[in-house]
This record gives sequence, C-alpha cells and structure tokens, in this order.
Amino acid sequence: MKVALIADVHANLPALEAVLREVDRAGAEAVWSMGDQVGYGGDPGAVIARLIDAGASCVLGNHDAAAAGLIGTEEFNHLAATAAAWTASVLGESTRAWLRGLPPVAESDGWQRAHGTLHDPTREYLSTMRAAEHHFAVQTARWSAAGHTHIPMVVWEDGDGFAITAPDDGATVALDERRACVNPGSVGQPRDGDTRASWALLDTAAGEVTFHRVAYDIGAAQARIRAAGLPEALALRLARGR
Ligand code: ZN
Repeated sequence: MKVALIADVHANLPALEAVLREVDRAGAEAVWSMGDQVGYGGDPGAVIARLIDAGASCVLGNHDAAAAGLIGTEEFNHLAATAAAWTASVLGESTRAWLRGLPPVAESDGWQRAHGTLHDPTREYLSTMRAAEHHFAVQTARWSAAGHTHIPMVVWEDGDGFAITAPDDGATVALDERRACVNPGSVGQPRDGDTRASWALLDTAAGEVTFHRVAYDIGAAQARIRAAGLPEALALRLARGR
C-alpha cells in the first residue's frame, strides 16, 4: 500500500492542492494527516473540506484543538493565538465539531500517528532526547508518524539512544529493524528554510519512505492571509520558510 504522509497543513489551501496533485500522481491509496490541519493560514474551512474529500485520516493538533475550543491559547504565542481566534470565528459549527472529533492518536496498518508525540500528542515536540524517550516509551507499533516541528525527519531508536535522518527532497529512506518515527515536514508552513510544501510517500510493501518538496503559489496563500486580516508576519514567513 502507498500512503501519503502529510502534516501541518495550517489552512494553506494552495499548498495542500499542490501536494494532493502529487499524491494522486504517485498513486497513493490513503492520506494520513498528522495534525494542525488549521491555524495560521487563510483557508481553514476549505482545507478541511478538501481533506475530507480526499478521504484523509487526520489526528488532532494543538491548533485544531484551539480552533475547536478544546484548549485555551495561553500557551500559544501572540501570532498563533490571534490566528486561532480568527479560525474559530470563521468555522461553522459542523466543522468545529469535526475538529473536536479528531483522535489525538490513530493507529492502522502497523503505524501509530500523533501530532506531537505519542506521549503528549498536542504539546510535546519530538525534537529532544527527552521527548524521544517519552515517545518511544509508549510506541507499541513498530512505526509511528508525527508532525508539529514542521521539519522533515526520521527519528530512530538506536541502541541506547536515538539517531536522526534529515532527508533531502527526493530522498528514499529504507525502514529497517529499528523502531522509527517519520515526520513528513509541513505542507502549509515549512520551517527548514525551504519554502516548498513538504510531504512523504510511504510504500508499505517496499518498506520505504520517500520525501518530497513541491513548489506552490505562495503569493496566493499570502493573499488569503491578508484578506483574512491576519498578522502580516504570517504571510511573510511563508516566503522565508521559517
Ligand atoms: Zn503546526
């Protein structure tokens, strides 16, 4: 089975559309979205409708939880809190109910999925030794997938510690006997200095994951953020990839 791994779409419809075109071309039979479907971007309702249309299996991210009223925004920075309040104000009740119904952790085909870590799905970043210890302590499946950091990466359980693979565009990573967590990077707000949308294609039969970057119309995404009256910094960062 071929599965498209996506995360952190963040209400960026032009980026999502560009990625889904590639997903179709690659022949993926399923889409797994590792949370933060909304927040920051100007098209939350349209992005959710498009993900539902694509049959995506989504988990709950911190921005989804805030927009749905499940959590407050005390731990958000000013930009994130402003975007969360705006997102909540423009989503209809049925869409907010869809967000509230998202599971923090999902499991299928031998993979566990969460936004941050399996230990603390909507808060913890899988970017420290401590977080990796927390994550793998509760990973019961051989493989997992996460988002939240907006950086494409594979974290491996490796002897007494952990190893990291930072894949370039087009890199194929073979899954081996080690337990691993795959982060496909962010579709809608990459933060590794590459402005292109990030996603990954999992081939379960071949036991490998290929990482991809896709150029999209950044100007269109920025126009939607400005039309929404969201902070200018959220538009500008898309052109920096930070
Ligand atoms: Zn995010």
